[in-house]
Amino acid sequence: MDFAHTPEDEAFRSELRTWLDVNLPKFLADWGGDEDPGGGRQGGIARSQDRRKDWQKRLDEGRWAAINWPLDWHGREATPVQNVIYSEEMARVRAPGIYNANGLWQIGPMIIHWGNEEQRNEWLPGILSAEEHWCQGFSEPQAGSDLANLRTTAVLDGDEYVVNGQKIWTSTAHLAKWGLFLLRTDPTAIERGAKHEGITAFIIDMDTPGIECRPIRDIVGEEMFNEVWFTDARIPVAHRLGEEGAGWKVAMGTLGHERVGTAGLAITMAADLRAMISAARAVNPDSLNDPEIRERIARAYTDIEFTKLLNYRALTKIIKGQKNWPEVPLAKLQWSHLAQTLAELAIDLLGPSGLLAKGGPGAIDGGSWTRLYSFQRYTSIGAGATEVQKNIIADRAIFPRT
Ligand SMILES: Cc1cc2nc3c(=O)[nH]c(=O)nc-3n(C[C@H](O)[C@H](O)[C@H](O)COP(=O)(O)OP(=O)(O)OC[C@H]3O[C@@H](n4cnc5c(N)ncnc54)[C@H](O)[C@@H]3O)c2cc1C
Repeated sequence: MDFAHTPEDEAFRSELRTWLDVNLPKFLADWGGDEDPGGGRQGGIARSQDRRKDWQKRLDEGRWAAINWPLDWHGREATPVQNVIYSEEMARVRAPGIYNANGLWQIGPMIIHWGNEEQRNEWLPGILSAEEHWCQGFSEPQAGSDLANLRTTAVLDGDEYVVNGQKIWTSTAHLAKWGLFLLRTDPTAIERGAKHEGITAFIIDMDTPGIECRPIRDIVGEEMFNEVWFTDARIPVAHRLGEEGAGWKVAMGTLGHERVGTAGLAITMAADLRAMISAARAVNPDSLNDPEIRERIARAYTDIEFTKLLNYRALTKIIKGQKNWPEVPLAKLQWSHLAQTLAELAIDLLGPSGLLAKGGPGAIDGGSWTRLYSFQRYTSIGAGATEVQKNIIADRAIFPRT
């Protein structure tokens, strides 16, 4: 790959850098340097959401919230290289979380692509301005890795669909006003052996009677994701996204193929590695003389560099118009492996004080390393489980069927 950027890409980076240099310190000062208390901790969640909302609003004011959206929708129609630059710059400054990540990166582009004019006008402004929170309800108890096995039904009745069934692991559904859901409009498709057919995408108002969100307490004690139960919930036909039966195409066609999703990760992880080493220097310096720990640090550093190069290879393929395959599942594996490796390394580096949780006297960095140790377990399940990614690589890249 040619590592030099075009003048346009350099200008993009420089404009973003200048904007961040001015606006991020101001944002942090307004929030009293307060760290985001996390995705869904009880007590901290309201403040976390307010903080994310404010940051997204400010990004939007600078036209930096939805860089892939059309110019008419306050986007920048960013190229793949500019997406990488954006991720790198945001990682460099450790930018705060945003309120509608799902909405901006995935659901919004689906509405732009598959929605009609009325639907775009109804939903895009609220996603962009962070006025309304969005969730994404795909998984079900029997449909996770095997998503096409989903069975929550939507049956047409006049100008409405009647929805019954259960979703699970729906992140922040209990806080959302709207959700993008995949529902089964043709229940015979599974028996016919055509499970990818008969699925339809809907935008659902989470306040609709007959919808109940039941938060699930997760490994770190937060209530971030939910079971979502539907009992005769009535959804207007006008809220169907795309044609009936086209849901698989709607969901998969726009799911981030053009993005190099882990682009900023190497920068964030390298910063994490440096941060845990300097915390260890302060509280447990002996660990840094342990040959095994030193080897693990070197390995982690090398793996981070590999991840960066893997991303560049994926980007090169995209620029050349080739499929970024098999780099996408490889990057997913690399990400989950490194996330867990670093979280474990941090605890071993910090020694006994590394285990002190938030609120405990002497907790290091607010107990964030301890939280991360448990939280990062999710990375080998969410966004594609490890075993399934390995199956895909084996089936299609190592032993492709002819
Ligand atoms: C933090 C978090 C947030 C999430 N947020 C959302 C959300 O907002 N919306 C949403 O719809 N979903 C969400 N999910 C759900 C996520 O998409 C699923 O957890 C994921 O698809 C895996 O499905 P599952 O949990 O049913 O596990 P399963 O698919 O049942 O897998 C369980 C285990 O079996 C293994 N396995 C499964 N199939 C195979 C196979 N064929 N060969 C070998 N091994 C196999 C898996 O690797 C895994 O180890 C979230 C999950 C997490 C962890």
